[in-house]
Amino acid sequence: MAAPAMVTAASIAAAVRAGTTKAADLVEQHLAAIAAREPEIHAFNLVLADEARAHAARIDALAAEGNDPGPLAGVTVALKDNMCTRGIPTTCSSKILAGWKPPYDATVVRTLQDAGAIVVGKTNLDEFAMGSSTENSAFGPTRNPHDISRVPGGSSGGSAAAVAAGFSHFSLGSDTGGSIRQPAALCGVVGVKPTYGYVSRYGLVAFASSLDQIGPFANSVEDAALVLDVIGGHDPHDSTSIPQPHPSLVGAIQQGVEGLRIGRIADLPAGADPDVQARLDLAFETLQAAGATIVDVEVPAFSFGLTAYYLIAPAEASSNLARYDGVRYGLRVEAADTDSMYGATRTAGFGDEVKRRIMLGTYALSAGYYDAYYGKALKVRRLIHDDFERAYQQADVLLTPTSPSVAFKFGAKGDNPFAMYLCDTYTIPTNLAGHPGMSVPFGTGAEGLPVGVQVLAGTLQEPTMFRVAAALERSMK
Ligand code: GLN
Repeated sequence: MAAPAMVTAASIAAAVRAGTTKAADLVEQHLAAIAAREPEIHAFNLVLADEARAHAARIDALAAEGNDPGPLAGVTVALKDNMCTRGIPTTCSSKILAGWKPPYDATVVRTLQDAGAIVVGKTNLDEFAMGSSTENSAFGPTRNPHDISRVPGGSSGGSAAAVAAGFSHFSLGSDTGGSIRQPAALCGVVGVKPTYGYVSRYGLVAFASSLDQIGPFANSVEDAALVLDVIGGHDPHDSTSIPQPHPSLVGAIQQGVEGLRIGRIADLPAGADPDVQARLDLAFETLQAAGATIVDVEVPAFSFGLTAYYLIAPAEASSNLARYDGVRYGLRVEAADTDSMYGATRTAGFGDEVKRRIMLGTYALSAGYYDAYYGKALKVRRLIHDDFERAYQQADVLLTPTSPSVAFKFGAKGDNPFAMYLCDTYTIPTNLAGHPGMSVPFGTGAEGLPVGVQVLAGTLQEPTMFRVAAALERSMK
């Protein structure tokens, strides 16, 4: 599917560092791929052609002078448009941020650029990352490159589609309840949500701060590992980032899966389509054939994840989104007095799903209901965490479907928010536990559409998670 040749990010960077490949040519190839298909895909809110060309010229100059442009030299990246880029609009696909240009870069943006990666654009998302199909964007939906009558998943649908369509070598998304893994599955690319705190979130526009985490989309497990090796690590600007270095994931994927214990969740909530379930069954068989052992585990509180999430995430969102009041950011609708201005601005600026979350969250936090809803949800969250921890004493990783179905048609979930929320049944519990999870493409299901298998692991067990993902990927070659 990717337009430019499927070579690894590491080999591209090596060639650019050696001066045998020009970053300028790589950028032109990607801009040409964008020109050809972006009109039908709409992966981007903004394509940064001039900036990308200028950055490529600087990288080629560095290499020509005998300096090292970095481990991602000339590798192109698309950024979900909820990551701050200095002087460049950052919209969260919301009207309420119209015209806002952040005065600083997110740490991940700075880190990637320092490593030689070239930003080609800002990608579309469900408004403020709330959704599972990218249909909630104020700027219109993104289409799935495998079938443009279908959604790419969400909320990071633009980032997933950009990689699947060959618009960039890799991209970044954010995952609060599945927003990297689910679109990765639906678009047939690798998507990783690292352990909470693995990657700095400084400059990521907050949705639900106790859950949000940044991670990569890539064409291969190895590329995703390389990107995480670059962006992972402590950041003094993000007090939730883990203050210790992470072991190399690129190094870890060389090891096989022999002797690893792969957990099957016996009490996993039902709901996966038969074509998706068939791929998951095959994934277990594949790992067993590669020398791993399959063990049955139970994670009883898993099935309460969705309910707890839809109290905790909206509660945090209602607080985080209070700042968009027409005073400091973007849109302002003038009115007779300040209160009316706040109301008019928020009424005009937020879409339906964002308003629904703000109201749900405000209700869940209000006096008299706090203990019954928010407080209860926090207790359930603890149970989910503890159940997972127990399971990880018996299994090194757990395997589940990423998404219950392959990519669905636009409008298929109608105006039933609950049908949409069910897309995240298998991804959400991991966010509540703070654990890492990733989706790896594992063949196709109904109508030849991509299916992803989800690999879950305990806190900071990314090396093992990547080993398993790499083994599944190898078996597909
Ligand atoms: N789809 C989920 C939601 O709408 C998860 C979103 C996310 O991970 N950002 O909240």
